[in-house]
Order: sequence, then structure tokens, then C-alpha cells
Amino acid sequence: MFGHLLDFSPRGWGRVWLWTTLGTLFCIAAAIYVDSYNFSAFDTATLHRAIAVDVLLPLFLAAPLLFFFTAKLRDLAVAHHDLCILAATDSLTGLYNRRAFTDRVDAYLHDLVATPQPHHGALLVADVDNFKSINDSFGHDQGDRALKAIAEAIANILRPGDIVARIGGEEFGILLPGASAVQIRTLSEAVRRAVSDLRFEPDGKPTSLSVSIGVATFQHAVGFSDLFRVADQQLYLAKQNGRNRISVSPADTNEKPLAA
Ligand code: GH3
Ligand code: MG
Ligand code: MG
Repeated sequence: MFGHLLDFSPRGWGRVWLWTTLGTLFCIAAAIYVDSYNFSAFDTATLHRAIAVDVLLPLFLAAPLLFFFTAKLRDLAVAHHDLCILAATDSLTGLYNRRAFTDRVDAYLHDLVATPQPHHGALLVADVDNFKSINDSFGHDQGDRALKAIAEAIANILRPGDIVARIGGEEFGILLPGASAVQIRTLSEAVRRAVSDLRFEPDGKPTSLSVSIGVATFQHAVGFSDLFRVADQQLYLAKQNGRNRISVSPADTNEKPLAA
């Protein structure tokens, strides 16, 4: 319930002190309030002693305890935040992993159902061409280097709000929410070109990199598995037609292609 108040930013320590101070003041106020029923029976010296005890006892007992517990809660919030990031991240490229991608795309598509206005966008599946030969020729480490460079090139092309992930070994998933037909074409082509323009020279040997991209477009709410299946079919076609190319289809095959 109070999780959002115990945040993990540098401000988090400020909140620990704030909760400690407020909690201690509350304890002092409560002690004085409860004790005040006896105050009328006290002489001045006893009254002063009673008030001093009501103030000092919470200061020495409640303050360290509150500090300890709120600091521990802050540590837990930090650990929880770090674990959430770790669980959603592909450790090689720093992009989202497959599960995080699926969750986010699924949530996005789910939200579309609830809103009446027309929606458009696309799911792209980009697969590195002949990647096995890079591993075979230069070793797995160079293959990893290529994957990192490709991931960075793709991420740099996309718009804020687009979602990109490494969804398999040498396969990337991209969601272009709200993209028009022109934007889908332009961005898909920009991704393809960004990869083919990469300078990759393992062991000093210039080596070309490329991706084939399957694109499934949508104009209204559609299920994730249908969208993914069509993008995958289009990827297969792009590979069949010679690689380093894009193949596009509407996710709902009864639907006309998206108008430019
Ligand atoms: P295609 O153009 O048909 O996609 O051919 P391909 O060689 O890219 O496809 P294939 O599925 O035959 O090979 C994919 C290779 O990707 C095989 C696998 O060893 C490699 N791979 C998968 N994950 C990683 C990884 O994390 N690092 C490295 N270096 N290689 C990986
Ligand atoms: Mg491949
Ligand atoms: Mg593959």
C-alpha cells in the first residue's frame, strides 16, 4: 500500500528520514496525550519529568526502530525494482527479453479492445540472415558482438513508444503502435538499412550483416498470437525471396492493406 512512497531513487533516503521523523513525533504526541490524564495530579517537578520521559523514550526507542524498518523497506523496494528490470531484460543486448515483450505487446493489444477509435500499427519480426555462418567463421564471441551492434542499430532507429526486444537467439521483435502505413514502411526499411549499413569487421575482415523482416499490420484490435503468426509467415517469405528484405501482410487477411 505504501510501496510507492518508499521509492528507490536518491529521494528514497529522504523518505526514510521523513517517515522516521513523523513516526517519532506521532509516538511522542501519543505518549503525552495518554500521560496527560495524570498531569493534573503532578506537581511542577514531576510534570516536567513526566513530559521529559514522554519525549525522550520515543526518541530513543521509536526513532531507531522506525529508521531501521523503513530503511529495510527501502532496501526491499530497491531490490524489487532491480529484479523486475533483470527479469525483463535480455542480458546480452540490454533490450527487453521475449517474455517482457510478449507481456507488453499483449497488454497494448488488450487495451485497444477497450477503446472505440480505429487503431493501426504493426508487429515486426526481424531475423538476422545467415547468422550461423558468422558464429562458424569467427566464433561465438564475435557473433555476440554482432547481435549487440544489431540491437543498438535497431533501437536507435525507433520512435519513443515503440517496443523492441530480442525474442530469440538472433531474432528481434518490434511493435510500432499507432504507426500509419507510411510510417510502417519507412521504419521497417530504416531498420533493414541500419543493419545492412553496419560496419562489422571480425578479425579485421569486413563482413556484411543483414536482417529479413516479416511485418504484420493491424487496423483494429487483434490477438497477439494471430499477429505474431502472420509476422512469422511474412518473415519466412522474406527469407525465401532472398533475405535482406521486408515482407508485409495485414494480420487479418480479410482486411485491405493499410491505406497510406
Ligand atoms: P537464416 O538466414 O535462415 O535465419 O539463417 P541463420 O543461420 O541465421 O539461422 P539458423 O537458425 O540456422 O542459425 C541461427 C544461429 O544463431 C544458430 C545459433 O548458434 C545462433 N545463436 C543463437 N543465439 C545466439 C547467441 O546468443 N549468440 C551467438 N553468438 N549465436 C547465437
Ligand atoms: Mg537467422
Ligand atoms: Mg532465427
